[in-house]
Amino acid sequence: MNEHLLKILIIGDGNVGKSSFLHRYVNGQFNKTYKMTMGVDYAVKLLHWSDKEKVRLQLWDIAGQERFISMNRIYYKGALGCVVMFDVTSSASFLSCRHWKRDLDNKAMLPNGESIPCILLANKCDLPQRVVPPDSIDRFSKANGFITWMEISVKENKNVGEAMRRLVQDILSVE
Ligand code: GDP
Repeated sequence: MNEHLLKILIIGDGNVGKSSFLHRYVNGQFNKTYKMTMGVDYAVKLLHWSDKEKVRLQLWDIAGQERFISMNRIYYKGALGCVVMFDVTSSASFLSCRHWKRDLDNKAMLPNGESIPCILLANKCDLPQRVVPPDSIDRFSKANGFITWMEISVKENKNVGEAMRRLVQDILSVE
């Protein structure tokens, strides 16, 4: 049995749903009042990827440090994948994704010198008051080097597991 240990970061503005995403993905729950402790925190999830491969994901949430927009290099160290998240009802959170991606690419790279595989997640697609249209997301995603983008709803558990599978698949293909 081959086991991969993958450090994955979850970044994006405050209130876009990062902690909820982590909680949903790791514990299978959506809890409105759930909030992680302040400071960098991580959770672990074990995936039985195939007959021969196990994947241990170490998922890092920036929990409360979003206001700095720029993260400490320590946080990025050893990361092999990244989720950049925004809220489809907040154009400000979408605009910030450019800064988050740039900060990531400036401070972290894979051992082979390439940029870290990064997926763009458009959360809260269950809400009717959406302001960020799909074609804008698509253009932005292609122009800024994301592996792909997906609409998700942590609340309705839509595309949460699928998004992580897509990212892990990409990470393993370059490893
Ligand atoms: P964080 O600051 O990025 O970690 O965001 P939180 O996980 O604390 O979520 C912020 C708020 O958005 C909370 O009130 C969540 O319940 C809510 N939220 C998270 N995901 C969704 C979603 O998919 N749909 C809706 N409607 N609300 C969500």
